[in-house]
Amino acid sequence: MDVKCPICDTVDQIDYDSPLAKRLRNRRKHLYLCPSCTERISEKTKKRHATGLFKLYQEQKEDDPYIK
Ligand SMILES: [Zn+2]
Repeated sequence: MDVKCPICDTVDQIDYDSPLAKRLRNRRKHLYLCPSCTERISEKTKKRHATGLFKLYQEQKEDDPYIK
């Protein structure tokens, strides 16, 4: 079956009976992402994760003892 990547509009062919195709048919919310976008997104997620962890160390306490 044809699946279209919503990010880069690449149309791929996947096996109609493959587990992925079944998932896509059963769950409408499940989006197909082409391999390159999958990679890009997981890369971004990892980076964001790294940034988030970094922030934890940099963040100052927001509590101001003079403002109640
Ligand atoms: Zn894509």
